[in-house]
Amino acid sequence: MTSKSYIEQVLRELKEKHAEKKEFIQAVEEFLPTLEIYLDEHTEIIEKNLLSLIVEPERLIQFRVPWQDDKGKWQVNRAYRVQYNSAIGPYKGGLRFHPTTNESIVRFLGFEQIFKNSLTGLPIGGGKGGSDFDPKGKSDSEVMRFCQSFMTEFQKHIGPDIDVPAGDIGVGGREIGFLFGQYKRLNGYTAGVLTGKPLNSWGSLARTEATGYGLVYFVQNALKDRQDSLKDKKVVVSGSGNVSIYAIEKAQELGATVLTCSDSSGYIYDADGIDLDLVKEIKEVRRSRIKDYIDVHTDAVYVEGESVWTLKEAYDIALPCATQNEIDLNAAHEIAKAGAKIVAEGANMPSSKKAIDSYSKNGILYCPGKSANAGGVAVSALEMAQNSARLPWTFEKVDSELKIIMKNIYIVCSETASKYAEKNNLMAGANIAGFDRVIQAMISQGLV
Ligand code: GLU
Repeated sequence: MTSKSYIEQVLRELKEKHAEKKEFIQAVEEFLPTLEIYLDEHTEIIEKNLLSLIVEPERLIQFRVPWQDDKGKWQVNRAYRVQYNSAIGPYKGGLRFHPTTNESIVRFLGFEQIFKNSLTGLPIGGGKGGSDFDPKGKSDSEVMRFCQSFMTEFQKHIGPDIDVPAGDIGVGGREIGFLFGQYKRLNGYTAGVLTGKPLNSWGSLARTEATGYGLVYFVQNALKDRQDSLKDKKVVVSGSGNVSIYAIEKAQELGATVLTCSDSSGYIYDADGIDLDLVKEIKEVRRSRIKDYIDVHTDAVYVEGESVWTLKEAYDIALPCATQNEIDLNAAHEIAKAGAKIVAEGANMPSSKKAIDSYSKNGILYCPGKSANAGGVAVSALEMAQNSARLPWTFEKVDSELKIIMKNIYIVCSETASKYAEKNNLMAGANIAGFDRVIQAMISQGLV
């Protein structure tokens, strides 16, 4: 059987089983076809039917989370954890609390996480989880009660050498703090069971900044390799959560002007460059909406109900940091028309398949999330190392390790791309390099 027909067969079988899980199918469909040339060289993967094994999660847990709201009403949400692949380490990946969270979303995120974690070069397997609970509009007490109930069940399935969750959309320091407290109450002080913890509970310095900073370090490496830099570049960022905020911070520090940020209600365009202190105040302190920005900066524009990818101004770099499929084909055309030369993904799978296909045709260097946003989980692995050693590192040490990791990820993606496709095909590079480490570990561990 040829590599191509084997890949087609695995995809066909997967689509039959999971026809309704469109994000999951999308993630696998973007991934498997890029492995074709690698499989030509490694025919034992076809002989052992290893693609069928790797697309199947090792374990998928679903549970209900009962909790009481502030009015005394009983509520229930659904929660998931996919423990996808443990070939190179304990399952590792975030928890997402968002109303759209379902099995398809968790599977796609978990599948991507396997290869992202592999690219970091650190000992972490792939997992992901979350709930359709929406922390937006809930009081701190409601969030606490939800997190405590969530962990009462979830603690049965995790541990520092089993599965180490962290944050994702809707899960930040507040939520991780409550989750950690409940785990501790039930099992004793176990710092290494969660990452992204508050600093007072042995969280790592620079973990909050890591995904956004890492994204910009990745772009910096890609630019340097092309004798260019971020200085004086115009950058468009979507979102205004943790990834966006620290991507804006690092891009500005390296001399770029960031023109935008957004939330699900609309976007801000500020030709003078985004006032990041104000964004932090709105999102991190007030937990309010981004439209508050124009109360202070009356010369900035707030565009209600539109995606930032409808922007008609010229810019050089697009950093989608909001959510999956925020860039469809139309948005990708707008990005090309704006003159952008790089799309680097801070979010997971923010580009649709058609959008990705259009990038190279339009001369845009595409930096897929698996590689470009791996800084967050990489620093989570450094948090695990600090927790195991029971010793905290300085901000500078973590940040300098992060820089090295992002540089290495860029190099391995670019070199693997040159070997199997062409240098600018960082998607093929990221997929093949991430896959290689996991599949070789699976082969050496036998049929388990
Ligand atoms: N949710 C983040 C991601 O998508 C971080 C996961 C972690 O730190 O474990 O990679």
